[in-house]
Amino acid sequence: MCGICGYNGKQLSLDLILNMLGKLEPHVGGKGTGIVFRLDEQIRLLKCKGNLKEFREKFDESNELIEIKNNGYLGIAHTRHPSSSFFLNEERFSHPLYDCNRKLALVHNGSLDSDKLYQDSRQMFDGHTFATEKQGKILDSELLIHMIEHFHAKGDSLPDAIKNTFSIAKTYGKLKGFGMFAVISNKEENIYIAYGPHEENSLEIKRYDDGFYFHTVNDKLNKDIVKTGEETSGWDPCNRNQIIVIEKDRVKFYKLEMRKLV
Ligand SMILES: [Zn+2]
Repeated sequence: MCGICGYNGKQLSLDLILNMLGKLEPHVGGKGTGIVFRLDEQIRLLKCKGNLKEFREKFDESNELIEIKNNGYLGIAHTRHPSSSFFLNEERFSHPLYDCNRKLALVHNGSLDSDKLYQDSRQMFDGHTFATEKQGKILDSELLIHMIEHFHAKGDSLPDAIKNTFSIAKTYGKLKGFGMFAVISNKEENIYIAYGPHEENSLEIKRYDDGFYFHTVNDKLNKDIVKTGEETSGWDPCNRNQIIVIEKDRVKFYKLEMRKLV
């Protein structure tokens, strides 16, 4: 069980996002902390193996964090609470996770049978390099971002690549199943969220005058971890089994179409 959050809108958002992470951490994280922002059509990713305090100790004085603080509007973040101890205590296992070209980044909330997914989709992963590989195993979440990369490289639009990946991944849910993942790309000013059938954690998206906030919720987590003023009314709640696209000034919802593996 992990926590994810993010923002897209008109405000510089590093502090907003770190504030949300700090509220998620006691309930769903602390064993890995990371953020990724889109700046100047580049992906800027910072992470550590520990909690938010350790993240701040590592990066607070760094040029990378200062640059994000002064220029970052679109970002997503992750606090980790892994379901097994196999992938633990190393920075490379923390989220966000990159694709091979470092043009896409993903945060994931949920658990998949990564061994089976890897075996069944082996061809798709030919030529890809995995940062989390350990004794022949690969972290489930990293398979997702390379699968998106695969479909995108074959000509799918990014939303279609995410839809295809989602359709496959949701059949490999472990424990409480497939939760949700969020993806950003260096090329687009959008956040994509695949919202899966996992029943323990839910997704909350809030619309305020300045932009859109999203974060994990469950029965231990207050739905009001974002406090920046009056929430804008007239808002549709998000449903499961959808791809949700958070643009700078609107949100779109797409039903999931099942597609066959090519
Ligand atoms: Zn790859």
